[in-house]
Amino acid sequence: MGDRLMMVGAGLSGAVLARQLAEAGHSVTVVDARDHIAGNCHTARDAQTGVMVHTYGPHIFHTDDDGVWDYVQRFATFRPYKNQVKTTVEGRVYSLPVNLHTINQFYGTALRPEEARAYVAARTADIPDPQTFEEQALAFVGPDLYAAFFEGYTRKQWGTDPSNLPASILKRLPLRFNYDDNYFFHRHQGMPEDGYTALVAAMLDHPGITVHLNTVFDPAETDQWDHVFWAGPLDGFFDYKLGRLGYRTLDFETFRADGDWQGCAVMNHPDADVPYTRISEHKHFAPWESHAGSVLYREFPRACGPDDIPYYPIRLAEEKSLLADYVALAEQASGVTFVGRLGTYRYLDMDVTIREALDLADAYVAARADGETPPRFSAAPL
Ligand SMILES: Cc1cc2nc3c(=O)[nH]c(=O)nc-3n(C[C@H](O)[C@H](O)[C@H](O)COP(=O)(O)OP(=O)(O)OC[C@H]3O[C@@H](n4cnc5c(N)ncnc54)[C@H](O)[C@@H]3O)c2cc1C
Repeated sequence: MGDRLMMVGAGLSGAVLARQLAEAGHSVTVVDARDHIAGNCHTARDAQTGVMVHTYGPHIFHTDDDGVWDYVQRFATFRPYKNQVKTTVEGRVYSLPVNLHTINQFYGTALRPEEARAYVAARTADIPDPQTFEEQALAFVGPDLYAAFFEGYTRKQWGTDPSNLPASILKRLPLRFNYDDNYFFHRHQGMPEDGYTALVAAMLDHPGITVHLNTVFDPAETDQWDHVFWAGPLDGFFDYKLGRLGYRTLDFETFRADGDWQGCAVMNHPDADVPYTRISEHKHFAPWESHAGSVLYREFPRACGPDDIPYYPIRLAEEKSLLADYVALAEQASGVTFVGRLGTYRYLDMDVTIREALDLADAYVAARADGETPPRFSAAPL
């Protein structure tokens, strides 16, 4: 007979784990505090317009992992989708990520790739060992492009001056010297035809899985299960007793319009005098659908309070030190594995979330077969 397993969180982590473990013969109870499945990937049709809304902000599926891509096709039909983001800077619209078109528009030039490379290189700052985000950006793109496209957006997103952020945030040269405006490099990119909630519902549709919504799991009940998988906040499992891990949250201001309001799915607004970072027009995430009305989100980042939804882990030095203390507590806990973006306090794209859940399910099955303790984390938080 299989184990009685508790899966806390009905997001992608919980759904993939539940599915894999149910298929392996275990009995899985999935609970979520919210009134819906799919966690932060949740999508729902707007009653007024029929538009499929990405409730917690825009989600585009992209991956280089063939196994993950094949896996999601089992549960949903994916439509081709290309993420093409625009940005409005001081009243002018540019293409993102910063590419040859952006550079030529911005400088009023008609440079070819190698000419543009030299042109930009002549404008970059000579900083041999950049330490901060700002230094890194100045070394990569120079002060003009940095001020227009990176500085304001980053300050609003993180609520701090980019000179306080580590250089590691900006790992690669964020410029393209061709006209490719596909935001992602991955080979596979698409949108589930009926939204992410339908994808997750199909994953959870298995006789070995029971789902309870509006249900908060109390960590004190961990020993009532053969094993608990916790996709909630790592610090939350320990009742925040060492303090709270810092996050940024997002406020979405919804507005509606007739027809096509901005002509694209995502328009960034990096200017310092605009209080939001971007506007998403949800109908453009499903270009195969047709709707007379439109639903849009203005996105305002801010510090996350105790009652807010944690979105982006901050992970600066102070948070990492607290994280190390919580990891030490977690290592001492028994009967629980911490999973997903909140359980490991990392920003995770959906494909990575799914990969880690698939691998963890295999590791759990192998550990049980060998009489060993299952992993404490789906991936190391530090
Ligand atoms: C604004 C934004 C945009 C994003 N865009 C993209 C994108 O374009 N492409 C991409 O690949 N990824 C994107 N992501 C990442 C994506 O959202 C995550 O990969 C995914 O949501 C992780 O799933 P999860 O199951 O780990 O976490 P979650 O979806 O957060 O699920 C955790 C669930 O646990 C529940 N829970 C917590 N504690 C308890 C408790 N005690 N009892 C019961 N339930 C509990 C919560 O209610 C929640 O539903 C984006 C993320 C954000 C924030």
